[in-house]
Amino acid sequence: PVRVRFCPSPTGNPHVGLVRTALFNWAFARHHGGTLVFRIEDTDAARDSEESYNQLLESMRWLGFDWDEGPEVGGPHAPYRQSQRMDIYKDVAEKLLAGGYAYHCYCTTEELDTRRDAARAAGKPSGYDGHCRELTAEQIAGYEAEGRTSIVRFRMPDEALTFTDLVRGELTFQPENVPDYGIVRANGAPLYTLVNPVDDALMEITHVLRGEDLLSSTPRQIALYKALIELGIAKGTPAFGHLPYVMGEGNKKLSKRDPQASLNLYRERGFLPEGLLNYLSLLGWSIAEDRDIFSIEEMVAAFDIKDVNANPARFDLKKCEHINAEHIRKLDVKTFTEACGPWLKAPFAPWAPESFDAEQFAAIAPHAQTRVTVLSEITANVDFLFLDEPATDEASWAKAMKEGSDALLVTARAKLADAEWNADALKNAILTAGEEHGLKLGKAQAPVRVAVTGRTIGLPLFESLEILGREKTLGRIDAALA
Ligand code: GLU
Repeated sequence: PVRVRFCPSPTGNPHVGLVRTALFNWAFARHHGGTLVFRIEDTDAARDSEESYNQLLESMRWLGFDWDEGPEVGGPHAPYRQSQRMDIYKDVAEKLLAGGYAYHCYCTTEELDTRRDAARAAGKPSGYDGHCRELTAEQIAGYEAEGRTSIVRFRMPDEALTFTDLVRGELTFQPENVPDYGIVRANGAPLYTLVNPVDDALMEITHVLRGEDLLSSTPRQIALYKALIELGIAKGTPAFGHLPYVMGEGNKKLSKRDPQASLNLYRERGFLPEGLLNYLSLLGWSIAEDRDIFSIEEMVAAFDIKDVNANPARFDLKKCEHINAEHIRKLDVKTFTEACGPWLKAPFAPWAPESFDAEQFAAIAPHAQTRVTVLSEITANVDFLFLDEPATDEASWAKAMKEGSDALLVTARAKLADAEWNADALKNAILTAGEEHGLKLGKAQAPVRVAVTGRTIGLPLFESLEILGREKTLGRIDAALA
C-alpha cells in the first residue's frame, strides 16, 4: 500500500513551494488509494512556532486537503508532532551508537574550520574528514577530561551510493561528496537528518516526494535506512522522487521570502483554492499537452509521478491568475456569490453592511463573475451600487470627460429619463444620444459610465444602470453636470 507524507516545519507563513509539495503527495496518495501522513517537523524550538503550526493546519484545510494520519485526526503512529517524539529519537540514536553506525565526534567548530580550509587550499574534498571515526577509549577519556562536548555523527559507507529517483532516474553519489554527518547536537537535540528518516521508517512511508533542495540529503538518508533495517527499526527503504525547483522573477529560485511565494497573499487576493491548486499542479507536471484547466479530481485521476518533469518550473503569476479566472467562471452563481462574501464586508467594503443590498448584488453578480480574475476585484466593480456617491478616480474622470461631454450628458439624461428601465432600452437611449452628437456608442458611453460609476472600466454599463435604478442614475448625471 502507498504511504506518503507531507512533513513541513512550522516556520513562518506557508509558501507556494510547500503547497506544491503537499499537492503532489496528496494527489499521489489519492490516485493510488493510499495513505497521506501529515507530520509536523517541529524539532527546532528556536524557529518553530505554535502560530505557524496553527496556520499550517488552517491553510491545509482551506486548500481542501485531507489527511489520513496526523494532527487532529490521529492515527496508529501518533504523535505526529516531532516535538512530542523526542524519546523515540534518543532511543534510536543510542542504538545507532551501540551498533557502531554512529559515533561521538569531539571536534570543535574551530578545528573543523581550520581543517576544512586546509583541505580546500589543497584542492581536496572539504567535508568532514572522519577525524573522530575510530577514537580509542583513551582518546575519548582525554577529550572528556578536557571538558569537550560531543555531537553524534553518522558513519557513511565508504563506497558510492546509487538509487533511482522517481523523477530523475538513476543517480550516483561518490563517498567523498557525502561525508559523515551530525545527527544529534551537543546539547542532545536530534537533527532533521535523524528525525526525518526515523519517522519515515516508523511511519512506514513508501514514497518520499519532496523538493529538489533535499536531493543532497537522500544518499545520507538511504545509508541511515540501511542501518535502521539492520537494527530492525525500518522494514525497507522508501522510493524517492524530487520535485523540480520553482523559479521566480529573473530566473532565480523562488524563495520563501519572495512576496509572490506567500500563500496568504493568494488568499487575500481572492484566489479560489481549486484555481491555485490547478496552477500549482503545472509546476513540474502536466495533464496533457495544450491543456491547462482542470479540476482537482481530474488531476488525481491522471496523476502519475512518472510524468513529473525534472526541469525547473517557472512561476508565472499571469498564468496563475488566468487559470483562477477560469475556475471563477465555472462556479455556479450561488457559489460565486457566497465566495465574494468576505470582499463585501469591512475592511474591504467600508460601505457594508449599512448600504449593501443583497438583491442588487445578486443581480450584478453574473456580470461580475465573467470578468473578475480574483475575488477581491469584486469590491471595486460593484461599489457604485452601494456608495452614495461613486468613488471617482480623477484620472478616469479626466480621460472620459472631454469637450462636448456635458452636452452629451444633457442629451443622454433626457433620453434616459424617458426610457423604459431595462438594459436594451438604456442602450438605445445612449446610442441615440450619441448619434445626435456624432458619437459612436463607445464614445457616448464613456462619460455616462464615469458619471455613474466613477470609473472608465467596469461591468457592462447598461446592465449596471438597470440595476442601479433610474433615480440614482439620473442623480449622478446631474451631479456630474453641476
Ligand atoms: N521538514 C522538512 C522541510 O520542511 C521536510 C523535508 C522532507 O520532505 O524530507 O523541509
